[in-house]
Parts: sequence; structure tokens; C-alpha cells
Amino acid sequence: MSQVWNFSAGPAALPREVLERAQRELLDWDGSGMSIMEQSHRGKRFIAMAERVEDDVRALADIPGDYAVLFLQGGATQHFAQIPMNLAAPGASADYIINGHWGAKAAREAAPYVNVHVAADSNHDGYRGLPARDTWQLDPHAAYVHLTTNETIHGIEWPSIPDTGAVPLVADMSSDIFSQPLDVRRFGLIYAGAQKNIGPSGLVLMIVRRDLLDRPTRPLAHILHYADHAAANSMLNTPNTWGWYVAGLTFQWMRAQGGLTAIAERNRAKAQRLYAAIDGSGGYYRNDVEPTARSRMNVRFGVHDAALDPVFVAEAEAAGLIALKGHKALGGLRASLYNAVPLAAVDALVAFMQDFRTRHG
Ligand SMILES: *Cc1c(COP(=O)(O)O)cnc(C)c1O
Repeated sequence: MSQVWNFSAGPAALPREVLERAQRELLDWDGSGMSIMEQSHRGKRFIAMAERVEDDVRALADIPGDYAVLFLQGGATQHFAQIPMNLAAPGASADYIINGHWGAKAAREAAPYVNVHVAADSNHDGYRGLPARDTWQLDPHAAYVHLTTNETIHGIEWPSIPDTGAVPLVADMSSDIFSQPLDVRRFGLIYAGAQKNIGPSGLVLMIVRRDLLDRPTRPLAHILHYADHAAANSMLNTPNTWGWYVAGLTFQWMRAQGGLTAIAERNRAKAQRLYAAIDGSGGYYRNDVEPTARSRMNVRFGVHDAALDPVFVAEAEAAGLIALKGHKALGGLRASLYNAVPLAAVDALVAFMQDFRTRHG
């Protein structure tokens, strides 16, 4: 099998141009005669690269100077716990908006370090919709409000970012970061595991308003303290040098694609095409998410007869359409349409869906 269409939820498809460039540079990066993975992060070449990557991501997402950009490790999950350590003093509380699996996990992991107040939860409908902003029970004294902008497993995305007033908004954007333009100023802190829209796993991108780094909280080991990471330009200890490099190639690729506005248009077209195929199938395929909450990144769907879902997955894989099995918690099917997934992949999937229906319908 020479090339497949990869619909994996993460680690996920990377742009082919990025992979080809990494391949070309693998044995001799930047004229050094060595691969990027063999270089010291304290070396001139690596430091210059890190500066270029930061310039590129700032230009890409229009990140203001009073926000720090950090390249961390531990996955988004570690930061579920580390964010309250850094932003909440002992005894403080934080508001959590829960509209799916990851938001619930963020609240659970934060609980040892902050009084978690669930300000809204849409679990009553099995996370098929979003908790309307006017139902949130926000605490004006909360240390922060935590929101998951896209729920990867449930296929739910906020169509716009709700207003949280003066309380800093902390957003887990792991699965929709840089899929559309964003107004960084609306947020106190944005974080994302890299393995969906940015690069390889093992890297976390964080964009944080600098004043939040100085909050008096509790004694923290340096390695857990974001302010120390910022002061050390994310090189407090050995960073994920490979991940940082590939992320940089992806930021350059996104800029060459026309930036976030152009990327957003493509993402909208991709999602529309797939949802139209589901909705236009006369009930053969179904998607239970409220239309206004449907994710552009992760399309959850299923065959009307759930017994056919595994058949669909196996036949799709044989046809070169990979990783369409839904998350184990929910079953069914899921197609992830991150930035690196081209429209041609969606066309191939839609054609396969029609063919499958003809054969099994
Ligand atoms: C994938 C994902 C995570 C978990 O990321 P790890 O890097 O595996 O810790 C957290 N939040 C969201 C929204 C995700 O999609």
C-alpha cells in the first residue's frame, strides 16, 4: 500500500510537504552534517531554530507580545494538573465547563490542586450538545474558567468562544488549535497537545498571558512552574527537540497555505462535505450531535445498523481509508479532519460511503 488517507484522531496526519522536508533534512540538518535529533539544544543552530519557530507561530496566530509561547512536554493531560498548580492559590476555586470526555478529565485531574466548581455540564444528553452560555453558573472570584474548545471523542465544538468577563479563560485547544483564526486576547491561557494539528506527540504548545505567570500560588518545583519555563525559553531541561522542529515546519506550512483564514475555509468545506453526505444518506448514516455543535475536526458518525460499523471500518481500511473506528468509549465511526487532511481524502471517504451503502444497503 503506497499511500493511505489517514483519519486518525491523534497522533494524526501530518502535511506531506512537512514529512518530505523532514526526510530531506534528516541526515544533514541546517548544514550541520547531523540530524536535528543529535544536536544540543544549547547549540547556536538549535537556538536560532527555536527563535524562528516562535516568530512563525506568533505571525501565524497573531500572538501579542504580552503573551509567552512555551514548548512543553507531558501531553495536554499533564497540564490538566499543572495549570491549577500555576494559576490557583491554595483554597481558590476554578470554574470548569464540561461538554465532553476531555473537559471531565481536566476537572478530575485538577481536583487535587484547586476547588473544582463545575459551572456547566452537558452530560445530561450524553454530550450531544453544548451547555448554553446563559446556563453557566460562573463565580466572579474563580481563579480561571476552563473550557475545551473541541471535544475530540464526542465530536463537539464551540462555534464561537463564549465570553467569561474578567476571569481568565483557559482553553484546551488540543484538537482544534490553528484550524481557524483565533483572537488570543480573549484567553488567559491556551494549551494543546501537538499530535493533532501541530506535529508529533510529546510536545505541548502553550500560549499564556505573561501576568498570569506571576500569580502567587504555592511553592512549586522549577520544572512545574510555567514562569521558570518562560524565563528559560522553554529550555529549563532538555526539550522535545524533534517535536519542536517538526512543529516549526508545520507552522511554516500553514503560513504557506495562506494562514489561518485560508485553512479555516478549507476545514469548513471538508466538514460540510462529510456532514452533507451523512445527512443526505436518507438515514443510512447518522450523526447525533446537535447541528450547531458539530465539530469541524472530528466527525462522529455511524451506520444505521451498528452491526455494520466494524464491517465499514474493515472495508474502508482495505480501500486505503485508515483509522475510522470510533473511540472505544462510544463505538461507531469517527473521521478526524485536521488541517493536514486534504479535501481529496474527504472526497475519497464520501465516495466510499456511497459505494458501501450500495453494496450493503
Ligand atoms: C488528545 C486530547 C487530549 C490528551 O492529550 P495528551 O497529549 O494525550 O495528554 C486532551 N484534550 C483534548 C481536547 C484532546 O483532543
